[in-house]
Order: sequence, then structure tokens, then C-alpha cells
Amino acid sequence: MICLGIESTAHTFGAGIVTDKKQVLSNIRDVYTTKEGGIIPTRAAEHHVECFDKVIKKALETAQISLKDIDLIAFSQAPGIGHTLRIGAMAARALAVLEKKPLIGVNHCIAHLEIGRMITKAKDPVLLYVSGANTQIIAYEGGKYRIFGETLDGGLGNFLDQFARDLGLGFPGGPKVEELAKKGKRYIELPYVVKGMDASFGGILTNVKQKLKSGKYSKEDLCYSLQETVFAMIVETTERAMAHTGKNELLLGGGVACNKRLQQMCKKMCEERGAKCYILENQFNVDNGAQIAWLGLIMHKTGIKTRIEDAIINPYERTDDVEVKWRDKK
Ligand code: AMP
Ligand code: MG
Repeated sequence: MICLGIESTAHTFGAGIVTDKKQVLSNIRDVYTTKEGGIIPTRAAEHHVECFDKVIKKALETAQISLKDIDLIAFSQAPGIGHTLRIGAMAARALAVLEKKPLIGVNHCIAHLEIGRMITKAKDPVLLYVSGANTQIIAYEGGKYRIFGETLDGGLGNFLDQFARDLGLGFPGGPKVEELAKKGKRYIELPYVVKGMDASFGGILTNVKQKLKSGKYSKEDLCYSLQETVFAMIVETTERAMAHTGKNELLLGGGVACNKRLQQMCKKMCEERGAKCYILENQFNVDNGAQIAWLGLIMHKTGIKTRIEDAIINPYERTDDVEVKWRDKK
């Protein structure tokens, strides 16, 4: 069985083709970026309208198949930016109707976890999901993917992007902050905001912006100190989630999971507690169509279907709203 997965929760329009034999035949994407400033939802949606047909065509070409060979069309139905989700949903519905193919809407956060399990063969990991808009520590418990900890305000990626914006850098800012941080030498004390299993970044952003404005600190030292602080916060809460759930596998997902320093800190934490740390290739960390296709496939196998009239977007669905029928209960 071959599934085409369409991703459009935010900045990325992605199309991935995956088989039920766990082969990723293609994983193509086009990302909305800016030279200055963040994501403007209407512009990101325009970006997707302009590129969606090219991305889907390229995914088919790379997989060396045609639309006729596709058995299932999956799309990211939730959560995300309404403007951009709508474009992916529209493309998926149109293809499903024209080509007479079954359709399935999936939750994007859960798709990160499932593609990670498929690729790494991790059995029952805790997922540290750190993307632009989302920062969640997710694990399976009692028939659902439960959120054991999360941000109390914005996502970690958006936080890095906002600071990068103040440095005059465009979107995405996370990789640029990482580059500057490598040259940082001095650790500057910043607020450390962990509340139980949750973390908050808003106050730290205000503090670091004030420090930048003061002119007393170098950009490099600020980026370095920022990374050390916020990564320590989420590694701490992730470790606590692993201890509470008794799970001994950690999986990283989301765009911020591409950060080498975060990966290093997670590996060290796992090493110290005798757990396994699974890190994916960047193409599966960032938003991508393959993750949507794979979750679509495993949901479809359990008989879940999305009727065309129900294929509307759900921007605010939470990870633990979804009943996980495709996993063995334990
Ligand atoms: P996603 O929404 O999962 O595609 O992830 C996008 C987010 O990941 C953006 O906020 C980026 O700034 C962030 N990001 C991407 N690469 C890195 C990196 N190397 N270090 C930190 N953040 C990153
Ligand atoms: Mg994501």
C-alpha cells in the first residue's frame, strides 16, 4: 500500500510518499522563509498555494510513481495555523475526489512520534517534541499520547526565532542562533523557569532582549547562554517525565531537534540514566510529508477513515484529544 502525505501546518508545504513496508519513497518540501521578521500567516498560505503542485509532482517523480499508484491520501488536519492548514486540506480533498482515493486526516504532533518510532524502531519512547509552535513532552499511556510537560507560553522554536529577529536575522532563526552560540565563550546568567513538568520562555525572552539592548554583552555570548539555559530546562523536565513514566527511550522531534547542542545534552542525560536516545535525520525532524503519510497508513490499517465532508481542519486539536487505536494496549 502506498500513501501520499501532505503537510501544511505552518511554514512548510511537504509531500511525502511512504509504503506500508516502511519505505520512504520521497520526502519533498518547500519552506516559507523571510529575510527579516517572522511568519505572516497569509503570506505563508500564499507560499503554499504557489508551490503545492510542484512539491506534489516532485514527490511523485522522485518516488517514480504516478497518482494512479497512490492508495491513500493523508493530510495534516491538526494542529497548526488555520491559513496554511487549509491549503493542504484543500489539495488533499481535491486529489481524493478527482482520483477517487480514500482520505485520512492526521494529527501532526503524533505524526512526529510515529515516524520516529518507525525509523528508529524505538518501542515506547518519550518524545521531546520541540518545534516552532510546539514544545511538548509526550508519551503513550492508557490509550492516548499524553502530554507530560509543555511550554506555558510559546514554543521553543518561536522563542529562538523571536530573539533572532531582534538580532536582525530572518526566519527561521534557530539555526542562526546555533551558529552564533558556537562562538560564545562566557555564560551570562538568565532566568531559569521550570514549573513542575512545564517550562516558560516569555520572561527569559524579555530578559535577554534587555541584555542585548544594554550593549554590554556580545551576541555570541547571549546566544550561547540562551541555548544553555533553555535546553537545560527542557532536558530537566524530559528527564523527570522519563523517571515518572519509567520509560527508558527518548526520541527527539521537531525543528529544534536539529540543534547539535540540544542533541548532545539529551544524549548525556540518557547515558547517565541508562536510557537510549534516538535522534533522527534532519529531514524527519522538521515538518515533512513522510510523517503524515506514515501515520495515515497505520491509522488506515485499523479501519479509521475521514469522509470528504469531515475533512475540515482542526487548528486547536491537542495531542491527547486523539484516541490511539493503532497501538497495542499495554
Ligand atoms: P518545525 O516547526 O518543527 O518545522 O521547526 C521549525 C523551528 O525549528 C523553527 O522555529 C526553527 O528556528 C527551529 N530550528 C530549526 N533548526 C534549528 C537549529 N539547528 N537549532 C535551533 N532551532 C532550530
Ligand atoms: Mg512539527
